[in-house]
Amino acid sequence: MRKKIVAGNWKMNKTLDEGVSFSDDLKQRIKASESEAIVVLGVPFIHLDRIAHFSDDLYSVSAQDCSTKESGAFTGEISSSMIASTGAQYVILGHSERRAYHEENNADLATKVDRCLSDALTVIYCCGEQLEEREANTHFEVIKSQLSEALFHLTAEQISSVVIAYEPVWAIGTGVTASSEQAQEIHAYIRSLFEEKYGKAISDDVSILYGGSCKPSNAEELFSKEDVDGGLIGGASLNSSDFIQIIDAI
Ligand code: PEP
Repeated sequence: MRKKIVAGNWKMNKTLDEGVSFSDDLKQRIKASESEAIVVLGVPFIHLDRIAHFSDDLYSVSAQDCSTKESGAFTGEISSSMIASTGAQYVILGHSERRAYHEENNADLATKVDRCLSDALTVIYCCGEQLEEREANTHFEVIKSQLSEALFHLTAEQISSVVIAYEPVWAIGTGVTASSEQAQEIHAYIRSLFEEKYGKAISDDVSILYGGSCKPSNAEELFSKEDVDGGLIGGASLNSSDFIQIIDAI
């Protein structure tokens, strides 16, 4: 069954105390909400354990990256098994900021995806084109490579533990949102790639989230589209009042 998901991505924000008080506040708001969305908090590594521990099953917790390595002498790295041991259930992989500032490529991401799945973590895999790629009309090809090179080696059973987040890079943190028609067009294309590779039943079930300046004022319109199954939310996930309004828009 296709799940509706609203996932926050705090990026490098909030001290531990700020994170804990945010989660306390959000829990009250989720209890009062009638939304059926699955809520995921993508938090910095240092928050994982506490934010997962205090979730009261009202939200799930996600890391924002993991190492390509399993364990060993890799100073500063965090492995997928370490993430799973905190109680986190998700990992965001392939965010455009990691691709741009840490030169992550699709091959690295294929390895990270495998590591996460072997530790029973659900992957939120980000894809999306740069502005120049959209202007050159190569965005469909870019997205096809991002998906096929990092994900399409997976079996049908494995792919059911992957959620896709379509995040046009030109919309992330810019205040410029893709129109709901632009989002729907790409989400339908992504679903068609899944159908080609894995068949209709699996493509019908994959959750495809939209990310890029999604906020309370545009969430309902974006989420009203047939192939938009929720959102990956950056800036607006840092404020619990904005975040709950986006959760309620599902
Ligand atoms: C993101 O970074 O994943 C994101 C969608 O950011 P924002 O909502 O701030 O554009």
